[in-house]
Amino acid sequence: MTVKILLVEDSETQLEFLKEGLTENGFDVETAVNGAEAYKKVYSFLPDIIVSDIMMPVIDGYQLCRMIKNVEETKKIPIILLTVLDKKIDGFWGKKAGAQLFLSKSIDLNELVANINSTIRRYPVSEEYKQALAAKADSENSAQLRLNNILNDLLMKSVFSNEFRNLSDFLNYERVLVEKLFSLLSSFVEYNAAGIFFASPDEFSENILYIDTLGRNLSKNLLSDISYDFFRKMEEHKIIKDSKFEVVRMLLGKEVDFQFGDLTSKIVIPMIFDKKLTGGICFYTRQDVDYSSFRYFDIMLSELLTIFKMKYQYTEKEFMSVLDGLTGLYNRRQFEIGLEQEYNRTKRHPSDFSLALLDIDFFKKVNDTYGHQYGDYVLKTIADLMKKSFRKTDLLYRYGGEELVIIMPETNIEGAIIPVQRLRRMIEDYDFNHNGIRAKVTVSIGLTMNYQKFTMAADILKSADEALYKAKEGGRNKVILYEQ
Ligand code: GH3
Ligand code: MG
Ligand code: MG
Repeated sequence: MTVKILLVEDSETQLEFLKEGLTENGFDVETAVNGAEAYKKVYSFLPDIIVSDIMMPVIDGYQLCRMIKNVEETKKIPIILLTVLDKKIDGFWGKKAGAQLFLSKSIDLNELVANINSTIRRYPVSEEYKQALAAKADSENSAQLRLNNILNDLLMKSVFSNEFRNLSDFLNYERVLVEKLFSLLSSFVEYNAAGIFFASPDEFSENILYIDTLGRNLSKNLLSDISYDFFRKMEEHKIIKDSKFEVVRMLLGKEVDFQFGDLTSKIVIPMIFDKKLTGGICFYTRQDVDYSSFRYFDIMLSELLTIFKMKYQYTEKEFMSVLDGLTGLYNRRQFEIGLEQEYNRTKRHPSDFSLALLDIDFFKKVNDTYGHQYGDYVLKTIADLMKKSFRKTDLLYRYGGEELVIIMPETNIEGAIIPVQRLRRMIEDYDFNHNGIRAKVTVSIGLTMNYQKFTMAADILKSADEALYKAKEGGRNKVILYEQ
């Protein structure tokens, strides 16, 4: 069968020249003078290959390429792009747009023919495929409509991915991330209530279903209905075994409004990646809205999935790691585990342990005056001083940004005060010096121990925090003991 080439070129002389040459070589050649015309002809001519110029008016070669490659029914048609320029960036865009081959316009005809033949051999378009494509071709009108839709989709896609990409800055601030997501979603999805939850890779953390109601307050019953509905849907997908997902948190809310039955349309979507549930999203409306037919839903979902996946991996990585990257101390999660263990151990085998919570004084000012890097240096140096001044059996943690914790097993508060005071003094006396900048830094410390009256591990941390607060209030650079 004769090979059909759709030749696209805005220069008439070039077009004539190439058409003649290719026809002489036995090809069936159809021509178009720009991308828009070419796109329409794809459906009627059913080419085996498209050979296109890049620089053209209306719709250029890259755009044509992206349009063809973005649609299932046309994406298998191979494309060769021709350019006068021999620049790397052209090749880059050509590849990104999905072109199979990139040739210089100055290539001689025989070579072009050889390249066309080899490309067709590598990317053959079957008769069935062409028939399916032909079935989509109807009126001129619908071709134009299709063209517009594709252009809109491409634009939409890039706008969407830009908007969503901006959200990745907030991966470790879940609440902020959720708020930003809702504010973005509410700008283009119709809903009266929407929910988002991010699955947590570990089994300890609670999974929070955040609900946005666009400023309306929902009744408690309605909230629990939505949460039941949502998590049952997750269970249906056999991703959640037993629901540890009760927590529902409202973001906004003013007045009590409608009932669950009033929410006519809904869609509940689990976000799954690599067979793992990374989170989920739901929308509810009072009007009749068919969410699945929403034009941009697929694009939105694929962008959302990326966010959910990044968030999941971020949390997973944090969870898997044990040490804090900057200070080399154990991280916060290890602290939660360590404190719990020590607390339980001393419940079983009564003995004392102390806990010191340390916070750098006026650390914000250090950052503001000498820069963040200097702040990092100070943090790291203080962690090093800590490592030096405590026993091997003491446990050192970075609890938060500039908050460090020491757990001292088998040590009562009278015993603990000695190394803790020594550390405070060591820091006070230390000449911080980095890149030629010298500074003085002090710390405040709250000290406590596992008093009988505490009924859970968290109480101990809370008491240290109270003492720390007093140390700050009392003028800083102090160790204050928790008073029962
Ligand atoms: P106070 O004496 O009351 O504790 O004052 P402060 O300025 O230390 O307290 P505040 O909590 O207002 O500021 C803490 C600052 O610590 C804010 C934040 O920028 C900084 N910080 C937290 N983590 C890091 C870090 O990893 N590196 C650096 N350089 N700064 C950090
Ligand atoms: Mg602080
Ligand atoms: Mg501080």
